[in-house]
Parts: sequence; structure tokens; C-alpha cells
Amino acid sequence: MARKTMIAGNWKMNCLSADGIELAKGIASEVKSMGKPECEFLVCPPFTLLSSVKKALRGAKVALGAQDAHFNVKGAHTGDISPEMLKDIGCTYVILGHSERRADHKESNELINKKAIAANQAGLKTVICIGETLEERDSGKTIEVCTQQILGSVPDSATAANTVIAYEPVWAIGTGKTPTANDVEEVHAAVRKVLAKKLGKANANKMRILYGGSVKPSNAKEFLSLEDVDGALIGGASLKVADFIAIAKNAGF
Ligand code: PEP
Repeated sequence: MARKTMIAGNWKMNCLSADGIELAKGIASEVKSMGKPECEFLVCPPFTLLSSVKKALRGAKVALGAQDAHFNVKGAHTGDISPEMLKDIGCTYVILGHSERRADHKESNELINKKAIAANQAGLKTVICIGETLEERDSGKTIEVCTQQILGSVPDSATAANTVIAYEPVWAIGTGKTPTANDVEEVHAAVRKVLAKKLGKANANKMRILYGGSVKPSNAKEFLSLEDVDGALIGGASLKVADFIAIAKNAGF
């Protein structure tokens, strides 16, 4: 089943205008020089930089995404951003349910599900994040937790065309620690099984499941060559042009 590998950068709450534009221009230039890369690149800057990064990426095959969205189209929601606003500014993707939002903003599976439906209705594709804490892993609950997160936060209307899943063990994010390749493959295969039950086999077989958590150039090939791993969601290493591009190149793109 051919699934196009996605190399996605989550810039989180990093970069002011000058460094964000420089980073985007650097990525754009490297991607252009790759000709027609067989992988799909995505960058997700903070809201404040979406417009300028969009301009900086002009002419390069790099998609633009945001890191969150509200579930309403508009209205009295001070400080929030709607999916329509993101679409309007040129986003094609939005990350939802990142573990930092689940932890910092107490986002529930139900809320993420509502956000995903709204994002899809606005014409955005979602990258829905799941993953266990260290405590949950140590008590043998990894698959159970990921299953509940998939069942709760992925809408029944999700398809391979409008949804990407990112498996990110919380304890691997920004720590330099990673699960073994076997552990990652085991979780991804289990996630695909749950997706098949929920959304049907055809959707599940086509849906991309990214791995995220301390991905860097030196471990990219190990993770990206696994059968059920269809790309990477990258935090820290996506803030350096050379590292972000090397992750794709080292994985064979
Ligand atoms: C992330 O936060 O999505 C992430 C994977 O971060 P890092 O690559 O820095 O571990």
C-alpha cells in the first residue's frame, strides 16, 4: 500500500519574524534543490508567523500547517483561531491534540474530536497526535492508551485523505530518548488495526501514521524504514534547516 511519507516540522512556540523567515527560506531552497522529492514536507510555525512563512515558502513544495485550531467557525472566543482563518491564510494542515496541548490546556479526546471535525469541514487536513506517558508505558498500558486516544479523538468521518495520525510517546518528546524500532512498529501496527476497526480497512491501509519523539538525522532511517511508519513529526530538529532536510535525505528521499 503506497503511502506518501510525510516529513513534518512542529516549530512549537519558537521563532520571531527574522529567524522564522530565515528558517522557512532555508527549507524552501533545500526542498527546491531536491527536485521532485517523493516525500511530502510540512512546516507548522506559530500562528504569528503563518503569513510570512507562507510567503517565504513560495514556489517550494512545502505545505503550511498550524499547531491548533478552535472548533467554531467564528465568534466570542478570545484568543482562539478558527480553522477557516487558518485556511484563509494558506494552511492546508493543522496539528491537533499534541501532548503539550493535552497537558497544558487539558485538551480531552472529545475536544480534539470536535476540533478535527471542524477542521475537516473547513477543508483542512489534520495531524492528530496520540501517545503514552512514561508511567503508562512502564505499567504496560501503551497500546491501551493509544487505542483510547484513537477511538476518542479521531472522528468517525476521518479518512486517509483528510487525516494523518502522529504517534508520539510523551516521554520521547524533546528528551533525546526514543523507543526501540520494534516498540514503534508494534504500536504503529496496533494503531492501524484500531483504525481499521473504526474507519474500515481501506482507510486504515491508506492512512499515514507518523512517528514523533526525538527524531534526528542519525535515527531517521531506523524509524522511517519501518513498515507502518509513514513519516515523522519533528520538534527540535525541525528548527535547523540542515537537520530537518537531513532527516528526509537520510531516510532515502
Ligand atoms: C514534537 O513535539 O512533536 C516532537 C516530536 O518534538 P521533538 O522532536 O523535539 O522530540
